Amino acid sequence: MKKLFKYILVLNVLIISCQSEDDLVKNNSYHLKEVGYSARDILSNEKFTDIFVEILYVKDFKPSNEVLASFKNFISERTFKSNINIETKLIDIPLESSYSINKIRSIEDENRTKFSTENELAIFILYLNGASSNNEEDSLILGTAYRNTSFVIFKETTDSFSDSNLFGEKNTILESAIVRHEFSHLLGLVNVGTPIIENHHDSANGAHCTSENCLMYYKMERMNTVVNFFDQEKIPELDAFCLQDLRSNGGR
Ligand SMILES: [Zn+2]
Ligand SMILES: [Zn+2]
Repeated sequence: MKKLFKYILVLNVLIISCQSEDDLVKNNSYHLKEVGYSARDILSNEKFTDIFVEILYVKDFKPSNEVLASFKNFISERTFKSNINIETKLIDIPLESSYSINKIRSIEDENRTKFSTENELAIFILYLNGASSNNEEDSLILGTAYRNTSFVIFKETTDSFSDSNLFGEKNTILESAIVRHEFSHLLGLVNVGTPIIENHHDSANGAHCTSENCLMYYKMERMNTVVNFFDQEKIPELDAFCLQDLRSNGGR
């Protein structure tokens, strides 16, 4: 009898936690959670079978087709989503030279049109001119994940590194790398929604990986204006520890 009671209690807790998540989708507030909250929902097909990526960009800062194709590959390599749709749309907003995360949240709130539905999870990406207000003198931020399904790419800042003589043709490599990096934060890396199996969390530098060669190394999203770190011939991969974490949290 005691056992049965315990079982019913556990079942109730499960139903209540499921309901609250469904309510978030129904109330259109599922997208307002913290980074990492949706890690398992994005990685697995347990709750959402499909994924829709809405990319809004400001004039002159549209993502390239190569970057979109590379990003779609990455989603299919890491997640179990059956259908992957990516749509880009120009938005006409007052441009600024520098954007705070609060400002970016309000741009999302006013312009986002796709929200998660019963089977389809929606991701929001904002492509901006200008710079992050969190930049430091010699270290510029290329992108930031700021909600469970949202991140921003500072395309003008990214281009300023890609277009330099040092990088030449490597333009889309850096942009693809930063899009994959920010998306991987939404996948819960590192130790932010997806628990670590081995200790590779560079906690001194936020939700990043200790491996210098990993896509999730902290310098991937911060370019040093004096000594450029990014001189790669190809997009950096996730290392074995990051991959192990994703797989243990429902990923591929
Ligand atoms: Zn990062
Ligand atoms: Zn790693």
